[in-house]
Formats: sequence, C-alpha cells, structure tokens
Amino acid sequence: MSESSLLDKIIKNVRVVRPHNDTVELLDLGIKDGKFTQIAPNISPDQAKEVFDAQNLLGFPGVVDAHMHIGIYQPLDKDALTESKAAAMGGVTTSLNYIRTGQYYLNKGGSYQDFFPEVLALSVGNFFVDYSYHIAPIASQHIEEIPLLYEKFGVSSFKIFMFYGGYGLHGLSDQQNLFLMINKEERYDFAHFEFIMRGLTRLIEAHPEARETISLSLHCEIAEILNAYTKIVENDSSLSGLQAYSAARPPHSEGLAICIASYLAHETNCANINLLHLSSRKAMEAALTMQTAFPHINFRREVTVGHLLLDVDTPNGTWAKVNPPIRPRADVEYLWQAVLNNQVDWIVSDHACCSAEQKRSAKYPDNIWLAKSGFGGTEYLLSGVLSEGSKRGMSYNQMAKLLSWNPSRRFGVLAKGDIAIGYDADLVLVNPHESFIVKAAESESQQGYTPFEGVELTGKVKSTFLRGNLIYHNGQVLGSPTGRYLKRYHS
Ligand SMILES: [Zn+2]
Repeated sequence: MSESSLLDKIIKNVRVVRPHNDTVELLDLGIKDGKFTQIAPNISPDQAKEVFDAQNLLGFPGVVDAHMHIGIYQPLDKDALTESKAAAMGGVTTSLNYIRTGQYYLNKGGSYQDFFPEVLALSVGNFFVDYSYHIAPIASQHIEEIPLLYEKFGVSSFKIFMFYGGYGLHGLSDQQNLFLMINKEERYDFAHFEFIMRGLTRLIEAHPEARETISLSLHCEIAEILNAYTKIVENDSSLSGLQAYSAARPPHSEGLAICIASYLAHETNCANINLLHLSSRKAMEAALTMQTAFPHINFRREVTVGHLLLDVDTPNGTWAKVNPPIRPRADVEYLWQAVLNNQVDWIVSDHACCSAEQKRSAKYPDNIWLAKSGFGGTEYLLSGVLSEGSKRGMSYNQMAKLLSWNPSRRFGVLAKGDIAIGYDADLVLVNPHESFIVKAAESESQQGYTPFEGVELTGKVKSTFLRGNLIYHNGQVLGSPTGRYLKRYHS
C-alpha cells in the first residue's frame, strides 16, 4: 500500500455511540486528515501509520459544549488556555462561548468591528479544543453590525440577556448603563430586543441558505421581578444561601421572560429561538406552552449540568451561585423528566471560571449576596450526564444527541456532532463503569473549587481526540493548543 493511501490512524475496539442509532457497536475508526474516513469492524492495522487500542471503551462524538464564557473573569487569552484544558479533560472538543461588550470580558464598549477581532486575536493559539463565539448585541449600533459579524467572521448565533437592563450580574444595581458601557440615551430593553430580532430576520432573508443555523439565544429572567423579590428576600432572615438566591430570582420571572421573548419572536418572525439554561418547572412549562402557541418558531430548550446535578441544599452554597439560580430538588427532577421526555434539546456547562478569591467575599464567605455569579464545570459535563442520566434510564445515544448532535446542528458546526464518515474525528473514550469523586484540585481549570466537590460520578473520561489527535489521555492534557476558530457558514 502506498504511503499516501494509508490512514493516519486507526482507533481500534471502540464501542461506538452514535446519536441516531439505538445501540452501541464495537467498531474500528479509520482517520485521515483529521476526518473519519473508514468505520468498520476489524480494520487491518497495516492500513494505518498508527494504531490506538480503545480497549472496548465507549466512544462518544466529541462533546459540543454550546454554552461557555471564556474570558469573563480572567484575561481571555489566559482563560482560554486553562479552561479549554478543562474542556478537553471532560471530552469537550468544541467550545461555543457567549461574549459581549461591557464590563468583564475585554472590559470595553464600542463596535464589534473593533472588538471582535481583538477577541479572535486573544483566542488564536490558546484553545486546546475547537471554538467559536456567540455575540450579544448590546448597543443599538451592534444591530447594524449583525450582517458584518455573519459575513466576515462566520458568527451565526446571537444573544440577549433579558435582565441586564435593570438588574446587575451579581445582584441589585442601578448602574446598568455603566455596566454595559452604553450611552445614557441607550436602553437595553424589550424594544432593543425586538430590534435585535428584526435584525436576525433580515439576516435570514439575506442568507436563506443559513435559515437553520442563524439563531438567537436568550437568558430569560425579568429585572423588575428580580428587583422586587431581591429586596423582599434580603430583608427576610429566615432564608439564606442558595434558598434565598432562588427565592430572590423566582421561577415565574423565567416563565414571564420566556412568554415575552416568544411573543416578540412571533411578532418579528424571528425563526430560531434558543431558550437558555431553563432552571425550573415553571420555566420549562412556559417554554413548552410557547412552543404550542407559536408552532412556526423553531424553539430549542437548553439545560445546564449544574441545574441537573445541584439543588438548593448543596453544601457550600456560595460556590454554586449562578443565574438563573440553582433550584429546589423538585425543579431538578422536573428538568430530568423533561430531558427523558425529549423536551430538552441540549445540555451544557455554562462554564464561567470565577476564581475562589473573586467568587466570594473574604470576610463573609457564606454571604450569597456578596458572591459573584457563575462557575466552571465543562470538565464534568459528560460524566455528570452519564452518571445521573444512566440512573434514570437515559440511553447513551440520547446523551450523544443532547451533548453533540443537536447543538452542532443548531449552531452550524456541521463537521461536528457524530462519529460518521466525513465528520471531524472528534472522539471521547469513556469508561461508563468507573466511578470517581469530583475534586477541584484535580482539574486543569484555574477556578480552584467546584460546587460539585465531593460528588461521586460514574463514567470517567479516559481519552479525548480532536480531529484525530489525542489531546487528553489518562489524566493528562497533551501537547500544545491546536484548537481552531470555527466560522459557521451554511453553504
Ligand atoms: Zn451563561
């Protein structure tokens, strides 16, 4: 066989999990130029330059973590290095990150024409996994930049943080224009959201080929409800910690936000709406009701691994402060029921590495109101879903759908999401029976703690391949960062 017809690698003895099958099959995977080119039982080892024996481990498609926040609390280049290592440890091979102008991130306002190239320059060479960005139009000028963001940079997904107009990232605030770094005359309000939606409708009209992959994501909470309930709860000494934070941002605020967002999508004919990190029964019920009310809108419903694993009784509650809040156990079980009923489209980490020193007040570490919002967890996404999903009867194939296939289709990373000929050879090998206790000290993340500390998970990631290259193996991230920026055009 000539050198050029040889495969670059064969990964032998993989129990392959594909999103559209209902079984797992023992196969060999032939890889050339970073793609799967042969998938069959018993591919002869002489057909490749290199052979890797997967020893009958489960092989999932590389995870597409569709909701991360690289660079929010640390400089973006540094954060990309450490947090994409954490991603690789968890079997994540595609990291999709929400980014915006304003405080945190690059800590500046201005146009995306200037801002986004800076983001890309800080990213290049610093990601261990492939990556892309979702962008939030914050100022009105950003709505005019939507076509540029798509046509020049391949950004096809956008975001609205519904509560930012009148409530802070970490609690009460009347400084939101300062926070968002927009002019006094600017309003980050429902009218702005409507105009963003109209901007996306125009973008789809100009690019009908991308009808399926241009979408708008929303963080659904309403500032007015958060303001009122935060004041009530802060003055009520009977509640503390995560219970207080959940009560201060009550589930009906999510439900109301979802109804408003959905009606605006209907009004503006904004076709593809992603309802992010639904945390409660009320949120999920509102999302399902809106799907029935507006069947012409293609809704997607997201949940996070944090909301599926943690509840308000989690120890060390300040570590688990996040928006929307961690909820009582009844909500957690309702979310699992929705996952099992195919009412959830994907599961993400919402990874936002917030170091221990930043996360909580040194003087009052248990004060939930003084803690910052968000935490990392991309390294536990697959193991968390495997562990808790298996207990509830979820199939491996369904996990592959929710962790890889569904987000890859929606967000236009079309070479990702499956173990199939022609797809990027992104693969994660997992021992579904190996249990481990989560310890932040063992993570590559810079965070230094985790709200999952001490939780026992069953299902350990052993090896991660990015485009055929081994990037994580038996506890070690390997080599240098080779992640590529993914432009998301649909041709
Ligand atoms: Zn987020």
